[in-house]
Amino acid sequence: MKIAIDLHIHSALSPCSDDDMTPNNIVNMAVLNGLDAIAITDHNSCDNVESVMKAAEGRIIVIPGMELQTIEEVHLLSYFTDLYSLLAFSEDLEQYYDGSPNRPEFFGHQLIMDEKDEIIGEKKHALITSLLLTFDKAVELIREYKGLPVPAHINKPSYSVLSQLGFLPPDLGLSLIEYSRNHPIDFQKYPECNFFFSSDAHFLGHILGRNMTIFVESLTINGVLQGLIKRP
Ligand SMILES: [Zn+2]
Ligand SMILES: [Zn+2]
Repeated sequence: MKIAIDLHIHSALSPCSDDDMTPNNIVNMAVLNGLDAIAITDHNSCDNVESVMKAAEGRIIVIPGMELQTIEEVHLLSYFTDLYSLLAFSEDLEQYYDGSPNRPEFFGHQLIMDEKDEIIGEKKHALITSLLLTFDKAVELIREYKGLPVPAHINKPSYSVLSQLGFLPPDLGLSLIEYSRNHPIDFQKYPECNFFFSSDAHFLGHILGRNMTIFVESLTINGVLQGLIKRP
């Protein structure tokens, strides 16, 4: 079946995203927009993924994810087949935090919410900074937890693997790539790769409609990830 996806959405946990990016607001907007699957990909953290999954139950597929910022300032998406793998990965990842606290007055709030959109905490560590982890090691760590690493907005002039490293490392077996619709890209340079685009929404109004579609065998987390990987 053909489904519509938006696999790069920030919740109110990301300091740079709007505080209205609550679990229910995101799910309601995604459903309203006709999406079948979304992913929550906050910077270096995943504290709102479970709440969004609960808010979405029976309405839309939510893929557990995160957007890492490596020491080279490369953004790297990661997707997991289940919440528990993501949570274990996230716990392990915290050892690579650089230790700087968030300063909400400058960077914005990092709100942790439950499935009813109640604020239940605020992340103390600054999620705007880079992890003390190289791009190669980050790819390795994601795979250690059976996650799928996907270079984010590869053609963006900042925070992308191309802008920071200058090339897509050929020896890492990265075959699924996210690109930005707002910048030019030459797909023919990467004949081995499958591409998709997302909204990278930090505001509700930026969440995609039925713009990016793929074919899947089943409307499940696994089905969506397999559909992404297996595209011709
Ligand atoms: Zn990014
Ligand atoms: Zn992002």
